Amino acid sequence: MILVLEKGDLQSLFDALTSEKYQLIGPRVEDAALVYDEIISADDLPVGYVDEQDGGKYRLVKSDRDAYFDYVVGQHTWKRYLYAPDVTLYELKRTGKNFEIVENKSEIPKRAFIGVRACEIEAIRIQDKILLEGPYKDTDYERRRQDILIVAVNCVHPGGTCFCASMGTGPRANRGFDLALTEIVEDSRHYFLIESGTNTGEKIMKNLKGKEAGKDEIEAADRIMKDAENKMGRHVDTAGVKELLYRNFENSRWEVVAQRCLNCGNCTLVCPTCFCINIEDISSLEADSAQRVRKWDSCFTLDHSYIYGGSVRTSAKARYRQWLTHKLASWIDQFGMSGCVGCGRCITWCPVGIDLTEEVRAIRESEGKGEIMADKEE
Ligand code: SF4
Ligand code: SF4
Repeated sequence: MILVLEKGDLQSLFDALTSEKYQLIGPRVEDAALVYDEIISADDLPVGYVDEQDGGKYRLVKSDRDAYFDYVVGQHTWKRYLYAPDVTLYELKRTGKNFEIVENKSEIPKRAFIGVRACEIEAIRIQDKILLEGPYKDTDYERRRQDILIVAVNCVHPGGTCFCASMGTGPRANRGFDLALTEIVEDSRHYFLIESGTNTGEKIMKNLKGKEAGKDEIEAADRIMKDAENKMGRHVDTAGVKELLYRNFENSRWEVVAQRCLNCGNCTLVCPTCFCINIEDISSLEADSAQRVRKWDSCFTLDHSYIYGGSVRTSAKARYRQWLTHKLASWIDQFGMSGCVGCGRCITWCPVGIDLTEEVRAIRESEGKGEIMADKEE
C-alpha cells in the first residue's frame, strides 16, 4: 500500500520512529553545507534549501518553496556511520607479564537514516557486498549495519553533478529501503507519498497519520520522477567502459589529468563506496597499553601502495588511473558490480573540478588517436 502524508503530518513519521527507540540521523545545515547528523524533528531538515553543484563548486541556497528535500547530497555519506572513519579495533592491556586483548564492544545505537537517496542505497549495497558477503566479514561494519532502518527519499531535483540515471542507480529508489518518500509540492498542496519496502517499514507505516494514495497522487509522483530522470546534471556512457579503460592503460589523457590532480584524496573521502583503510598501532608511553586503530585511507597517497621497500604507484598519473580504472572496471571483476553509483560527489568536492564523466568521455574520444585531448579548461 502507498500512503499519502500531508505536509503537516510528516512529523508523525519522526514520532513513529522515535517511539520505536531509533536514533534519527538525517540531513541538516551546518557551516553552510549539508551534513548527516542527529535530528529530532522534521523542522531540523534543511527546509527551503536547494544545492548548486558543479566541478569544484558547492553552494546551499534558499529556494522559493518550502520543500523538505529539494537538495541532493553533500560531502557527508552514510558511510561515516556504517564504515566509520576512525575505529578502535581492539586494545591491549598489560596484566603482569602478559597482555590482555580487549575487543571494542562499544554500544551502537539503533539508527534510522532519514533522507537516503537511491544512489546512496546502492552504495550501501556495494559496501554490504564487500564488507559482509566476502570471505572476510568486517565485524564492526556488521554491528553498525544490522539495526539500520532506511527511509529513502526519491530525488525530484537531481544536482548539477549527478549521473545516477547513467549508472542505473536512481533517481528513484527501487530497493534496499524500509520506507520511501516522494515529496510533491503543488500550487495549493504539499504532500508526501510513502511506501514500505520491508515488514519493519510496514509496521512503522501503520502508526502514521496518512490515508491511502489515490490514482492521481500516484500518477503525479510518477510524472515528477520521470521528469527528474531527464534533469541529470551529468551523463556517462557506460557501454563497454570496463574494456575501454583496460584497453587505454597507456592513453595520453592520463598525463593531462595528472597535470591538474593535486592527489589530495578528497574524491575518495567523499565517495560512498571507497573502502581503503590503514591500520595504526598506538602504544602508551608507559608501555602498558596499546590500541589498534582502523582509519580511512586513500589510494591517492604514496604510502597506500607501499610494498616492501617502495611505492608501486609513484606518479599522480598512476594514482588517478588506478582510482578511475578501479571504480569503473576492475571493481566489476572483483565484486561483480560497478564501484560508482553516480552521486557526483567526487566531481563537486574535487578542488580543481576534475570530472569522472569528462575523463571517460575524453578517453573514449581519444582512443586510438594517439594524441593528448586538451581539457576544455586548458
Ligand atoms: S566515484 Fe564519484 S560519482 Fe561515483 S560513487 Fe564515488 S563519489 Fe560518487
Ligand atoms: S581527482 Fe581531484 S579530489 Fe581526487 S585527488 Fe585529484 S585533485 Fe584531489
